[in-house]
Amino acid sequence: MSTTLDGKVVLVTGASSGIGEATALALSAEGALVAVGARRADRLESLARKAPGEVLTLELDVTDPESVRAAVAATVDRFGALDVLVNNAGVMLSGPIAGADTTEWTRMVETNLLGSMYTVHAALPHLLASKGTVLQISSTSGRIASANSGVYAATKFGITAFAESLRQEVTTQGVRVVVIEPGFVATELASHITDPTMRAAAQQMATSMRILHPEDIANAIVYALTQPEHVAVNEILIRPTDQT
Ligand code: NDP
Repeated sequence: MSTTLDGKVVLVTGASSGIGEATALALSAEGALVAVGARRADRLESLARKAPGEVLTLELDVTDPESVRAAVAATVDRFGALDVLVNNAGVMLSGPIAGADTTEWTRMVETNLLGSMYTVHAALPHLLASKGTVLQISSTSGRIASANSGVYAATKFGITAFAESLRQEVTTQGVRVVVIEPGFVATELASHITDPTMRAAAQQMATSMRILHPEDIANAIVYALTQPEHVAVNEILIRPTDQT
């Protein structure tokens, strides 16, 4: 027996492309009322036109706690509640630690780690009221660190730690916490890498194997969100078959 997402209110951060966009569309197709946030408002508008159900577009910068609070408030104003937070916004600016541009470290920590924490903080009162779900997009880099992804991996390890603390604090109040850990997915994530060698390596990796599509992650998210209330899917690690 699975539950339905019909009429559930979901906020997806980082929904202007990639995994967030595919997830918003999949949840809309499942009958959810979806609020989508990101900085590129034009991309959100085109998503809203494609979605089968009602979509609220929100210009959102997760590094700004005020922007996050406003997005959560606008979602609840429009749809009357919040049942699911898909905490997805993120950046990956890979490169070696020695000689790194530390402003890129700041961007990753502020977006991936602090941004997702601010979003949980703003959404939690509503999720406690609805006995809702926090679904956090981490990464295989949240389980295994590798050379040239030190700070990105640190943010994703941090996300997993924060999610586990959160889970222990809220699970007996009926709020479920899910961590999704994708391997290599075909999105624009790696195109923002500024180090040319790292960017080329990511492009080479993308063409050397059958990588995941954003819809593959969206399917895992729909699975986690449609389990009966007594079932908490806490973690899903999902890699391309060809990824070692
Ligand atoms: P994309 O680059 O396609 O999507 C990233 C999203 O995050 C965009 O919608 C972007 O929107 C948003 N974003 C970035 N900065 C901010 C910000 N300050 N405020 C609000 N939104 C922001 O990449 P993916 O879809 O691949 O990435 C989504 C998540 O999946 C990330 O957390 C990433 O770490 C994770 N992931 C991705 C993997 C992959 O191989 N692609 C593997 C494992 C995890 P905008 O620029 O419009 O603000």
